[in-house]
Amino acid sequence: MGSVAAFIRHCARSALDFALPPRCAGCGTIVDNVHSFCPDCWTQIDFLGESGCDCCGMPLQATEQKTCGRCLAQPPRIARTRAAVAYGDLSRGLAIRLKYGRKVAIARTMAHYMAPLVRRDGETILVPVPLHRSRLWSRGFNQSALVARELARRLKVGADPLVLRRTRRTPPLKGMTALQRRKTVAGAFQVTDKAAVAGKTIVLVDDVLTTGSTAEACARALKRAGAARVELVSWARVVKPSQLMR
Ligand SMILES: [Zn+2]
Ligand SMILES: [Zn+2]
Repeated sequence: MGSVAAFIRHCARSALDFALPPRCAGCGTIVDNVHSFCPDCWTQIDFLGESGCDCCGMPLQATEQKTCGRCLAQPPRIARTRAAVAYGDLSRGLAIRLKYGRKVAIARTMAHYMAPLVRRDGETILVPVPLHRSRLWSRGFNQSALVARELARRLKVGADPLVLRRTRRTPPLKGMTALQRRKTVAGAFQVTDKAAVAGKTIVLVDDVLTTGSTAEACARALKRAGAARVELVSWARVVKPSQLMR
């Protein structure tokens, strides 16, 4: 019965997709294909994809090969970090509209560009970076969980939005140095079910990646609980150091 219901939902969704012309996720003008951007918006997006260090994803220096010097010197807890696009006005606008508007269409567009960056090795579970429950109550949903759900559907892998919990409410990290950020989020995450992550590859899902200190704290908790490997995929990523202090 469940599959019949799912099939009907699928048809209803397809009919809706068919009835409404697809709109540019950046500005709302009508475009030819669902999840695409109009030519104007397209030129403003900097797709990152698989470029950069194969481990941290940051741009490589001319002297570096596949892995950057920093990752070679000290392999990070997050074995592979990927973001669909660079953080900029347009990608930020999408993240804000998702965060405050619960726009499932935006989560789908983000997942469309993030899905090719997720490698499915062994038993992969998608885990959204959690919000503290006080923030979850005031906002009503976790934007990263919406994206994780869309990714799970697309990739046919499991998503578990409850396995990682934010135990402490942390202040906004904007304007903090990397060290201050690390200290602020240290120990703020806890795995609720160790058996669910033990031996698995966990792919953390985030909307915007800045210094990565929050994701690092998540990875630490996951590794302690026995996760075999932790990766991260986000919609947008700050690649210009000047944007980190905003
Ligand atoms: Zn547009
Ligand atoms: Zn690196």
